[in-house]
Amino acid sequence: MPARTDSPLQVAIIGAGLGGLAAAVSLRRQGHSVTVYERYDFAGEVGASLSAASNGSRFLEEWGVDVEAAKPVILKRLIMHDWSNGEVKSTYPLGDYKSKFGTVCTRLDYNNFHRIDIHKQLLKSAFEEPGAGPKCELKVNFKATDVNPDSGVIKFENGEETSADIIVAADGIRSVTRPMIGIEPQFEMSTSCCYRCIIGADKLRSLGLEDYVSNEAIEFWGGFGINKIVMSPCSNGEVVSCYCFYPASHNNVRDDGWSISASPEQLVETFPDLDPRMRTLMLNAEDIKMWRLYKHQPYPYWVKGKVCLLGDAAHPMMPDQSQGSCMAFEDAGALGLVLNKGFRENYSAVEGLALYESLRKERATRVQEASFKARENLNERIGWSSSADRPGKLTIEEVCGYNMRDHLAKLISEQRTA
Ligand SMILES: Cc1cc2nc3c(=O)[nH]c(=O)nc-3n(C[C@H](O)[C@H](O)[C@H](O)COP(=O)(O)OP(=O)(O)OC[C@H]3O[C@@H](n4cnc5c(N)ncnc54)[C@H](O)[C@@H]3O)c2cc1C
Repeated sequence: MPARTDSPLQVAIIGAGLGGLAAAVSLRRQGHSVTVYERYDFAGEVGASLSAASNGSRFLEEWGVDVEAAKPVILKRLIMHDWSNGEVKSTYPLGDYKSKFGTVCTRLDYNNFHRIDIHKQLLKSAFEEPGAGPKCELKVNFKATDVNPDSGVIKFENGEETSADIIVAADGIRSVTRPMIGIEPQFEMSTSCCYRCIIGADKLRSLGLEDYVSNEAIEFWGGFGINKIVMSPCSNGEVVSCYCFYPASHNNVRDDGWSISASPEQLVETFPDLDPRMRTLMLNAEDIKMWRLYKHQPYPYWVKGKVCLLGDAAHPMMPDQSQGSCMAFEDAGALGLVLNKGFRENYSAVEGLALYESLRKERATRVQEASFKARENLNERIGWSSSADRPGKLTIEEVCGYNMRDHLAKLISEQRTA
């Protein structure tokens, strides 16, 4: 029988991306002693916009992350444009979003962040600010090379070694931990690649494209087939970011990182028949990066012994539901719930991890599968069309109105009666 106690756990987190940092804050708030190990030193942090719908934002609020300081743009609508002339074809207003989905906290908006801004605030919440729980410890230039799920020992490339009561593997889509807990990922290159780029609001105004800054919207061009442009403002409206999906056959990029640079000319020539205003944006875009999208099948399990997977390491998805970081925040929120003090009087840490998998895997897998469907069909994205039009479709209500505490209570009651 595993030990049940409410004394703090020694937690090791591998990876200081958004998922790893969110887990650090969530577990800190429960009084655990958390160390985060990151292979890099953040010198080259990059990224563009990330949307945190209410299901992700609610955890940021609960943990006391300074959301305002992360300079969100509050999204008010989704806008669909004609591919070739930019005309607005339809709009989905998120007008009553807050009252509809604000079931737990008072301030639940559809926040759009620049990844670097929210990453910075999570770093502060984990390692700097006073607040509930002991400050976490950060070790950079610690690349995990070996993880033992039975002993809880991690070895690093720099020769160091540590052990922990639980290990959270938040080491991203190319997780090195997965094979060490016996998972052989089944994945294939998708037929899509993506450029992402940013452009400053002042630049857009000077180009006569100021509506792209002030629309407070996620705006789409295309989306029925591989080609799609997804644009949204972030950083208090000072930056607009675009994701530009195109057929992999165009240049057959193979890397799934965020580091292959491209020129504005390369970007614009990929979309010869696109809305001329959007092409003007592209010719003036900055920090253009391209990457190949991979399609990972769901893994058979997420937890083995003392190790659990979290974020992209557990459920890599296509970006087409804008839910990658929200699912990582939900994972982190779930860990905080199953490893809280009250729970730990009844469940050991290892039993808590099993509960984490039960709570998270089915839901995250459903979103992951819906992200594949939405890759080439915008109607499959939450917000566009409803389950009445498309039976079985993932809906905005299901994603944004989710109450994890109710889900957990139901799960426990089912386990008790089984
Ligand atoms: C540099 C970067 C830029 C991104 N930009 C965007 C963006 O603009 N828009 C968007 O929607 N999504 C972006 N993402 C993805 C998005 O952040 C994730 O999909 C989502 O937040 C889930 O994050 P994660 O923490 O699970 O994984 P990730 O964000 O991939 O974080 C994984 C972390 O683990 C570290 N790591 C990996 N292996 C090891 C190891 N062996 N030992 C120690 N550390 C390790 C990595 O360096 C990284 O910091 C980006 C991710 C990265 C890493």
